[in-house]
This record gives sequence, C-alpha cells and structure tokens, in this order.
Amino acid sequence: MGKASRDKRDIYYRKAKEEGWRARSAFKLLQIDEEFNIFDGVKRVVDLCAAPGSWSQVLSRQLYLPAKLSPDSRDNDLPLIVAIDLQPMAPIEGVIQVQGDITNARTAEVVIRHFDGCKADLVVCDGAPDVTGLHDMDEFVQSQLILAGLTIVTHVLKEGGKFISKIFRGKDTSLLYSQLKLFFPVVTFAKPKSSRNSSIEAFAVCENYSPPEGFNPKDLHRLLEKVGSPWGGDDLDCSSEWLEGPNKVYIPFLACGDLGGYDSDRSYPLPKVADGTYQSLDPVQPPIAPPYKRALELKKASNQGGIRDLE
Ligand code: SAM
Repeated sequence: MGKASRDKRDIYYRKAKEEGWRARSAFKLLQIDEEFNIFDGVKRVVDLCAAPGSWSQVLSRQLYLPAKLSPDSRDNDLPLIVAIDLQPMAPIEGVIQVQGDITNARTAEVVIRHFDGCKADLVVCDGAPDVTGLHDMDEFVQSQLILAGLTIVTHVLKEGGKFISKIFRGKDTSLLYSQLKLFFPVVTFAKPKSSRNSSIEAFAVCENYSPPEGFNPKDLHRLLEKVGSPWGGDDLDCSSEWLEGPNKVYIPFLACGDLGGYDSDRSYPLPKVADGTYQSLDPVQPPIAPPYKRALELKKASNQGGIRDLE
C-alpha cells in the first residue's frame, strides 16, 4: 500500500505523522487516559515493549516535559520514565532506555535498579509478538508477554498503582481477567477508538494494585495456576473451560476515546494544499534496527548473487 493510500485508509497513521508521533499507537494510550485518567499523580512509569517509542513519547509529553518546563521544577523531582524493548529505540527526552527481553528475569532486575528502591505508579505494556494469524497461537504468545509484564509489576509497582496491558481477546480472556483480578480489584478491558474493530487487540486497564496478603513475587506462577484450575495449585490445567457455566465471569468491556471522533475503520478524504495536491509526510522516526533489516540485506545480496558475503 502506498503512503498516500495508507494516509487515506488509516486516519490515525496520518494524524500520528502530523502530530509528530512515531506510531499510531500513541492515540490508543491517549484515548485510554481520556477514559481512565491513568496519568493522574504519576511520577514514575515503566513502559514495557516500548519501541519504536510512541507510548514513551506520550509519557514524555504528558509527564516529563510539563514538569521540566514548570517554574518550580527541580532536577531531582522530575518524573522517571523507564522504557524497555528488545529493539533499540531512538532517544526521547526524559526517557531512560533499556534494551532487553521482558520475559528474562534479569530485565526486571535492571528496571528495579533504575527505581533505586522506589516503586512505580504506573506500568504500561504494549507488547506484541510477531503475529502469525493463527489466533490461538498468537493469543498464547501474547499471554506470555502479559505474564512477563505482571512479573515486573509484582516487583516494581507500588500498592494502589495501575497496570495497562495489551491483550488479545480469545477463548482464554476470562481466565486472564480472573488472574488479573487477583492483584487488582478493578479490571476493565478497553477498546480505544484508534484500535481497529477487525483487530482482536484490546487493553486491560488494571487499577489499585493490591497483591494478596503475604504475597511473594516468587509464588506468582503457582498463584496464577490456581486460578486456572478448579482443583487448586497441584493441577496444571490452565484452560478456562471451567470458568464457563455457573463459574462464568462477566468482564467489564468499554469502548474509549471520543466516540464522535475519528473511526479507525473508515477512510477519510486527504487534505489538499493550495495547488490542489496532497503531500504525504514521512514517518516521524523509522525503526533504527528493525528485525526485517537483515532479511532485506539477505534478499538484496541473493539478488546480486552475493549471499555468501553476508553469512
Ligand atoms: N508501544 C510501542 C509504541 O507506541 O511505539 C509499540 C510497541 S510494538 C506494538 C510491540 C513491541 O513489543 C515491539 O517493539 C517488540 O520488539 C516488543 N517486544 C515483543 N516481545 C518482547 C519481549 N519479550 N521483550 C521486550 N520487548 C518485546
């Protein structure tokens, strides 16, 4: 799809470039905030799976820059934003970057070190695996990222804090909801207007972090397994089938963002400049080391018969 054609079909892609966001995902976080005021009183945030960085930009623009520009700002009192991704990310003012895998225990340790004994008010996670199109498999891999996010939450989030995580709606949504409810009394699944209806993506908005009394983060997985099994912790059946029938849970599901605003599933006419033409903007910040870069190099080399040089 050409740039102008995508600009027409994807209003949030076009708006992101016009407003200087690195990705259209920025609008999802902004729309979640419109509904849930997730930034209220927030001084410390962790952005998991942050590249190319549009959520980190939102955090910088909403939290760091206003505090920095305030006349009473003090260097040691500025919001702390730590962003993690497998991929490197171009710098963003006020954002500390960590390149790492959130499923690796060492990454949690690095994050904790940055907080220097203090805890975060908010953890956000927009992590997504490379989607295969096989829904069960994509949902499973996505759930592993959410659990990795939850592991980091149990180490760094302060009591009363919030956790926002991308989820894929599927057959185990009730199970995931019940697992999150162990730690957060208020869990809502939200669909921002900027997220296409055709996508199974939604966001879990988890409020008021309250781990069970005496909870030890080392026990997280055992505790989650208990929710997945009607017989308790010794059974590893994590299917959510037993959550059906009388055990069925009702999940609060909310559309968010200005409902009269742009519809991500509609095409919009392109704005013309004075001479009647349309000028498509370049992306704000192309990924600096995308995983597909190596594939493109290999393809180019093989077309030129030089693949051996790259191996
Ligand atoms: N929130 C980002 C933004 O607004 O620019 C977009 C995030 S993108 C949809 C998903 C990201 O998840 C990718 O950059 C990918 O590298 C990252 N990711 C996937 N698995 C990961 C893992 N195990 N550890 C860290 N990052 C991961």
